[in-house]
Amino acid sequence: MTVTCKLPILNPNQLTYNSQLFLWDPTEPVATRPLAWNRDGEIAYYTHDGNKNVSEVVAENCGVEAHYEYAPFGAIMAQRGDCAVANPWRFSSEYAEEDTATVYYNYRHYNVLGGRWLSRDLIEEIGGVNLYMAFSNGDKIDEKGLRDTPEMANCKKVLDKIWTSEAKQAFKKSAAKGCQPPDVNCACCNDEKEKGRTERTNRSANGNSSAITLCAGANSDIAGYRSTLKHELQHAKDACEFKKNKLTCEEAAASEVRAYSVSSCTNLSGDAKSACVKNGAKESLRKFGPCAGENISGIVDSAYDANK
Ligand SMILES: [Zn+2]
Repeated sequence: MTVTCKLPILNPNQLTYNSQLFLWDPTEPVATRPLAWNRDGEIAYYTHDGNKNVSEVVAENCGVEAHYEYAPFGAIMAQRGDCAVANPWRFSSEYAEEDTATVYYNYRHYNVLGGRWLSRDLIEEIGGVNLYMAFSNGDKIDEKGLRDTPEMANCKKVLDKIWTSEAKQAFKKSAAKGCQPPDVNCACCNDEKEKGRTERTNRSANGNSSAITLCAGANSDIAGYRSTLKHELQHAKDACEFKKNKLTCEEAAASEVRAYSVSSCTNLSGDAKSACVKNGAKESLRKFGPCAGENISGIVDSAYDANK
């Protein structure tokens, strides 16, 4: 079949003029894509994937006349339909050369299997030193899989800013008792049981070297991370000063009361602060504390009175 193309056709009324006409998307004057195909008066329509590749040609009676699937660099992995060969526009909505299995970009032919141009760049080194390169690996692809996610990068950046000052502050008086700040790092907390957590903290048997892990993405700003860090540093300090890993419910309650007082409730005062600290401590002990079967509410209330 001979295909006669008139490009570009910006006026939709021209669609029905000649025997082989293509309507190109008039909203994209550069690098446009075909929308419809008039084959001797029979109209078919194009669908595209998100990368501007033609994925189907659909007839007016809704029959799929062509369907294509592509590998990342444009090789056709699957194609079917009566018009799959006749339709000239496929990968990137550019002209597919059936004989050479290349794609014609008006100036050069692109080899879909090699992922490179067949000829040198006409603008020479202005387009880059590799004259046959078709695609560069931009920032969107993590070629070694080692790059931090944006959440992780943000967590690390915040930690760099606040770690030294907060650790110094929290452990100012503890050094005399042999207590040093623990290691702190960022991680993705993706386990099912870690959903919604802002940190995970490991404590060693003597309570002296707990490691604090901030969950990347759990906080949206520096204030959130700072609050989480202050809370956990207080626990680390208490664990060290108590000289043990497994605290009693009373000791854990005292530690939670102190931790909430210096972290998420620190900007409140009066009754609001007392409610914030007590509720937070009770919630934490219910979820994580060594208080099974104990009167958490009463124990937290007295810990609050003793520590305020
Ligand atoms: Zn806590």
